[in-house]
Amino acid sequence: MGQIPVSGEQPYHYLTAESAAENIRKAEIMYQIIRTEGRAKRAQLETVHGTIQTPVFMNVGTVAAIKGAVSTEDLEKIGTQVVLSNTYHLHVRPGDKIVRQMGGLHRFMSWERPILTDSGGFQVFSLASLRRIKEEGVYFHSHIDGRKIFMGPEESMQIQSNLASTIAMAFDECPSSMADRKYVEESVSRTARWLERCRAELDRLNGLDDTINPKQLLFGINQGAVYADIRIEHAKRISDIPCEGYAIGGLAVGESHEEMYHIIEETVPYLPQDKPTYLMGVGTPANILEAVERGVDFFDCVYPTRNGRHGHLYTNRGKINLFNARYETDAGPIEEGCGCPACTRYSRAYVRHLLKAKEMLGMRLCVLHNLYFYNTMMKEIRDALETGTFAAYKKQKLEGMQTGEEC
Ligand SMILES: [Zn+2]
Repeated sequence: MGQIPVSGEQPYHYLTAESAAENIRKAEIMYQIIRTEGRAKRAQLETVHGTIQTPVFMNVGTVAAIKGAVSTEDLEKIGTQVVLSNTYHLHVRPGDKIVRQMGGLHRFMSWERPILTDSGGFQVFSLASLRRIKEEGVYFHSHIDGRKIFMGPEESMQIQSNLASTIAMAFDECPSSMADRKYVEESVSRTARWLERCRAELDRLNGLDDTINPKQLLFGINQGAVYADIRIEHAKRISDIPCEGYAIGGLAVGESHEEMYHIIEETVPYLPQDKPTYLMGVGTPANILEAVERGVDFFDCVYPTRNGRHGHLYTNRGKINLFNARYETDAGPIEEGCGCPACTRYSRAYVRHLLKAKEMLGMRLCVLHNLYFYNTMMKEIRDALETGTFAAYKKQKLEGMQTGEEC
């Protein structure tokens, strides 16, 4: 690509695509740490779609929708800062070119705040069948219609650029937590080479004249299964590749919580401290509190939505199962004092009835409550960090959730 105009102090000055991309990274994408408590950090990330206050829980809308008939209007009301969507799923259906034609994901789903798209790597390795991994990328079959697809770092960046998300995730391989050392070593080395290719390709795409979001950010991903030394070496290697944030992937896939906390504790110090730290796909409220303490500030997980759809609800006194007969005539809200759309209006008995009658509204109210619970907990975490009381907050929150009605 040739040259693109750069706005700002020198409106008529032109830069090459590479230096323009570098300029944008330095000047406009600002990650600012507001306060720390131990390793825990309270920060904010400025993006073209607004500022993200961290620690943040991103609400998972895999196919550009939160499962359970939750609209983007609902999300605005329950304090959602970032929606997470999936590259692989949207590539297969409706197709990223369709989304691009519709003006990008923000316009397509009518959501103005930040969107993070994961790279498709995890889904390719967990969902798709008959995959073949090569240096250039992965050959696999679609889980929808079986057609053969190739995806490598360049393809993943092109798809995410078409979707025009705020943050694109690097294309990585997520080796099984059971994989042997030799396999994991080779895999993470390839993931680092893939990250270099992702960076180069996204810089190229961000420099094109017709790119919907030319300020799309890139987060690199750390892998290494449960081998702390491999994770650390990989963290050092990817830290040398300039990204706007760094994630820890491939955890919460079968290892114990203690193993997971250990890996987070060992790895986080080797990722750039002046960039966001994202723990992918984790987890329970307790997992999040433990990871915040170890320096993580971006999270996502399907638990609140998936559990909500099954009537399992998070409260400050632990998880409750609304199908339990004891709620049949319970006139109280899911949680006393909760400000969510379900609790401010409906009783446990009514929501339970809706779930039993398989009414969509039942699922919807439960998902709204659970997402509100997670979003509110993140707000409480941020407030506690600001006043230097996170350690006390964490202790009290964990103890409260253990007193559970049914835990
Ligand atoms: Zn509620």
